[in-house]
Amino acid sequence: MGRIKSLKCRECSTEYEPTLKYVCDECFGPLDVIYDYDAINLTKDKLNIRSRNLWRYFELLPILNPLNIIDLTVGFTPLIKCEKLGKILGLNQLYIKNDTLNPTYSFKDRPASVGVSKALELGISSVGCASTGNLAAATSACAAKGGLKCYVFIPSGIERAKIVQASAYGAYVIEVDGDYDDVNRLASQAADLFNLGIVNINLRPYYVEGSKTLAFEIAEQLNWNLPDHIIIPIGSGALLHSMCKGFEELERIGLINEFYTKITGAQPEGCSPVVKAFKNGNEEIIPIEHPDTIAKSLAIGEPGDGLYALRKIKKQNGYAESARDLDILEAIQLLAKTEGIFAEPAGGITIAVLKRLVEQGKISKDEKVVCCVTGSGLKSLEIISTPILKTIKPDIELLAKVIGV
Ligand SMILES: *Cc1c(COP(=O)(O)O)cnc(C)c1O
Ligand SMILES: [Zn+2]
Repeated sequence: MGRIKSLKCRECSTEYEPTLKYVCDECFGPLDVIYDYDAINLTKDKLNIRSRNLWRYFELLPILNPLNIIDLTVGFTPLIKCEKLGKILGLNQLYIKNDTLNPTYSFKDRPASVGVSKALELGISSVGCASTGNLAAATSACAAKGGLKCYVFIPSGIERAKIVQASAYGAYVIEVDGDYDDVNRLASQAADLFNLGIVNINLRPYYVEGSKTLAFEIAEQLNWNLPDHIIIPIGSGALLHSMCKGFEELERIGLINEFYTKITGAQPEGCSPVVKAFKNGNEEIIPIEHPDTIAKSLAIGEPGDGLYALRKIKKQNGYAESARDLDILEAIQLLAKTEGIFAEPAGGITIAVLKRLVEQGKISKDEKVVCCVTGSGLKSLEIISTPILKTIKPDIELLAKVIGV
């Protein structure tokens, strides 16, 4: 059985029963899942014999009964040492956490599978999400496997592959004429009125727990020695915040000694409210009215966890830095051509920001750095590039001319 203790307000620390609740009655703050940490006995030996997916960290996930797990075999994606890319960027120890290799090709499979499994545990039969694209596919796939109905809400203008993918898994896809923040508001009302379990709204405290498994895996794959620096993309800020919670929990239960890692957040220049707050020394996030970037997954003008991500970045002595769309495209190509990893803009951005930080002297050559590459380029073909293609007749002499041999 799981070790979940309560839902605790991030602002005023009031605790609640772990039910379908997501805001504090006292102060409207967000709620976090808290575990009975002293009772958790998760050891390296125990982990060694468990299956290689995110459910191996069951004691630190918010599901009470393992029978409610919907298992798409998400997670335990490779942590790859990147010699070639590292050399070009001037780094001796660069790693990529390749989360494009999840079942629906983005890290969103992590929070979605925890959120949808929790819906099943709470007896909710219809789920959904407000999505910038990847979450739509992830929630739909997991709902399909679990036999739940699924309604996904998306803003207009996101990549076609993400919509096709979500509907292939059998979800009702509702495109809202507006931006992500409009979508979020509508989905929020739908959750209340139609009894829907919207994974990133009323199931949010459970949903975000899935993302911290990225932190668990990075620690475990480095043999429980943390990297010096991790670069994480920021949309809503939930991923960055959850990963920090994950490292804090590992420290709490004694699997790592100290969470000293610098945590840096990456946003596209056309939607970078957290970066602006960081650079201006603000203690609040000023929403962006009209996000404009090719990194559709990060186009959230009013990031729900933006402030909390900012606080974690400061606490961990990291940075918040932006990258221009052009630099993101260049980084995608560089990553693909050196390491054979094809990222979408929201994933490639961590490489673009890494490059900037090295140039600014904020990361030195011997630091052990991990970049989180969170989504696959195959879903963003139209915004990434047109292929370089030569069409010829099936003739060997023509071919010799074309390739110049
Ligand atoms: C959603 C998403 C992010 C951002 O995650 P948040 O939790 O919203 O900050 C980053 N990369 C990809 C590929 C995503 O789909
Ligand atoms: Zn509160």
